[in-house]
Amino acid sequence: MLIAVFDIGGTSIKYGVANKEGQLLFSSSVPTDAYLGGAAVIQKVVLLSKELMKKWDIHGVSISTAGQIDSDNGIVVYATDNIPNYTGLNIEERIYDQLKLPVKVENDVNCTAIGEHWQGAAQNTDDFLCITLGTGVGGALFLNGRLYTGQGFSAGEIGHMTLYPHGEKCTCGSNGCYEQYASSSALEDLVSKKYGHAISLIDFFVHVKSGETKSIQIYNQWIDDLTTGLKTLIHIINPKLIVIGGGISEQGEFLLNSIKNSVYQKVMPNHARNLEIQLAEYGNKANLLGATKNFMMQFEIL
Ligand SMILES: [Zn+2]
Repeated sequence: MLIAVFDIGGTSIKYGVANKEGQLLFSSSVPTDAYLGGAAVIQKVVLLSKELMKKWDIHGVSISTAGQIDSDNGIVVYATDNIPNYTGLNIEERIYDQLKLPVKVENDVNCTAIGEHWQGAAQNTDDFLCITLGTGVGGALFLNGRLYTGQGFSAGEIGHMTLYPHGEKCTCGSNGCYEQYASSSALEDLVSKKYGHAISLIDFFVHVKSGETKSIQIYNQWIDDLTTGLKTLIHIINPKLIVIGGGISEQGEFLLNSIKNSVYQKVMPNHARNLEIQLAEYGNKANLLGATKNFMMQFEIL
């Protein structure tokens, strides 16, 4: 029982062949070439699947993708212009028509949460919030052991909570959204603004860890904005666990401890009690892992 799994992002498509234990027997990536538009991106997925089908006995296709996804029907409900003309596209139908294999599609942050719940940081935890820090801030909510997607498949869009009502313009058209302050891109922008030139986040963290005053001030400001948003979420949901993913989580314990110290000072005592905060364990493989599990759950493969 093998599944072709794909993780479609704005810059690259990661893909592979997974077995039902979630092991990747093969994995690779190609550029998304998002500027060609949603239909071309999905056609690329079809062609890659056909390549995989020549070498492997593929039983189905499971996709993790950016955008709000109607996971019942495999349709993109809404996507930003990172992938032009993606909104409204029926991914499931397009792939099924050409491959005649069962297809499942789910939002990428939801796949991170499913993957981490299956084999990662959220194993044995049925109520948790998963957030990803990257270009934006993504969120996925697990309640009573199940993904909560909302009435229109758009729950967990935490990146667009308002943090500063008259703040920075956001890609969504609003102002002062959380992700304009708490994403890793927001940290990069803050760093280049304060230093007057671009510095990679890896180098920036070297400065912070070495105790350099200016970098610590920037870092503390970013942590403060990040945890102010978390405070709101914690007070609404009262989760058992928060899992933090995205590339920046590679900063490990240092980042985790900064977040924890700040969060525990901000939330009410009853929320702090028994609240765990952990980093995602599967990094950029979590989405493929989640896509694998999502496929098996939908088709009841045990
Ligand atoms: Zn926004």
